[in-house]
Amino acid sequence: MSEGREDVEGLDRDGVLRRVPTDLFIGGEWVPADAGERFDVLDPASGRAVASVADAGPDDGMRALEAAASTQAELAATSPRQRADWLTAAYEAVMDRAGDLAHVMTLEMGKPLAEAKGEITYAAEFLRHFAAEALRIEGGYQTAPAGNARFLTMHQPVGPSLLITPWNFPMAMGTRKIAPAIAAGCTSVIKPAAQTPLSMLALVQILHEVGVPAGAVNAVTTTQAGEVMEPMIRSGLARKLSFTGSTAVGKVLLEQCAQRVLRTSMELGGNAPFIVFADADLEDAVAGAMAAKMRNMGEACTAANRIYVQEPVVAEFGRRLAEEMAALTVGPGTQQGVTVGPLIDDAAQTKVAELVQDAIERGAQVLTGGEVPEGEGYFYPPTVLTGVSPDARMADEEIFGPVAPLTPFTTESEVLGLANDTPFGLVSYVYTRDLDRALRMAEGLESGMVGLNQGVVSNPSAPFGGIKESGLGREGGAVGIEEFLEVKYVGIAGPRPAAQDG
Ligand code: NAP
Repeated sequence: MSEGREDVEGLDRDGVLRRVPTDLFIGGEWVPADAGERFDVLDPASGRAVASVADAGPDDGMRALEAAASTQAELAATSPRQRADWLTAAYEAVMDRAGDLAHVMTLEMGKPLAEAKGEITYAAEFLRHFAAEALRIEGGYQTAPAGNARFLTMHQPVGPSLLITPWNFPMAMGTRKIAPAIAAGCTSVIKPAAQTPLSMLALVQILHEVGVPAGAVNAVTTTQAGEVMEPMIRSGLARKLSFTGSTAVGKVLLEQCAQRVLRTSMELGGNAPFIVFADADLEDAVAGAMAAKMRNMGEACTAANRIYVQEPVVAEFGRRLAEEMAALTVGPGTQQGVTVGPLIDDAAQTKVAELVQDAIERGAQVLTGGEVPEGEGYFYPPTVLTGVSPDARMADEEIFGPVAPLTPFTTESEVLGLANDTPFGLVSYVYTRDLDRALRMAEGLESGMVGLNQGVVSNPSAPFGGIKESGLGREGGAVGIEEFLEVKYVGIAGPRPAAQDG
């Protein structure tokens, strides 16, 4: 798989790793876990450790939250311009160091360097977007319907926020939360995924360097996510939880948050349908499917999980997609020419293999891929299956791997029913050149986002989020900052008519 290929020129693996802090960041200081525990971060291309980071316990978590809580008033009192300036400086620093940050991300998460660089840019854009939003926090002034009072409305920071992120986008899922929190004036404790803590620690280091006050952003890395987060959620010190991860964990956290009536934002799992009508531009549709399926090796909540193709074009679409998938190069993300890195761990590799086996047993045919390669690392080849039964496990579960399952359909109403037949509702994709059909589908699909003739919808300036069991709230766009703001209304009597002599 990686035979004969060299690392991309100029990489300094030890150098970039040495520059990333590996302790907890609490109250503006890098500190070890109280109990002195540490855990290894593994390179999924080899299974070997690349770094060891502090392993926080519940007391460390509470200290981080106390630091956030005691800094809340100070941060809330800063000017919007000041907060915007910090975010702009952080944007510039992230872009300046994009090469190093991408290398760190590839080492801990596996995605090829070019893709990691793409994520760094995407992550930085949230900093730039929310720098601008910090300046646009609005209020209102309204006359009561009876004319006898005035309503003054203002937005205030929600308060100390707990931020939990997954491993698949190790930096972008962080800036998508940290940037609006800072813009709104909320302090935070961020807990990155245990498998990919380094990118977040590098980001927190940058925020510190550009002058974000001590205690405003705290970072806790741990192998005991539940034990560390639950006391913080239940403590009464936090006012908000913003979570990106699986629906199963999201449901547990929502129950915990209910006890303190915390504000919640939930970016959860997906099961995206990708629908190709016979009238679509097939070349565009194949390119869109490649983007929607293969971004992040398929390890994305927005990944096309079920590809429905109208009968007359299913064979042609399958042939072209399989050709493109087979032409990709699998290997360690640091190597030249590699376009598909490893999956995150052996459990992910085994799960993808099992889902493919299940689909084959239910009648699917393999157009390309489908075999776990020998050797080290958690690789899985780009795979196209056709004739996948709607009863296959992969029609219900997130594949989270480079597997494109094609299922034929006949009519628009049939495919709309199939697409919506899921508890998830994050994103759907539709390819058609018929405007009426495009609008009917966009309105009928039960998802928070629709990609119309495009295979990527994520954009820091657009409202990202799902409906049904895919989540609550939106990140990015003009509304992203509202997740960290409360509305306060002041009812004002009068004004009374001026006195005759006044
Ligand atoms: P996960 O297992 O739910 O983990 C997500 C985060 O939650 C990690 O930081 C994890 O820590 C932490 N966590 C796990 N159990 C916890 C608990 N009991 N209390 C508090 N925190 C806990 O999800 P994942 O496997 O990392 O990520 C993949 C999932 O994220 C997929 O379902 C994907 O669709 C979803 N996702 C959604 C979006 C979106 O915007 N909608 C974006 C990206 C990913 P550890 O790492 O220590 O387990």
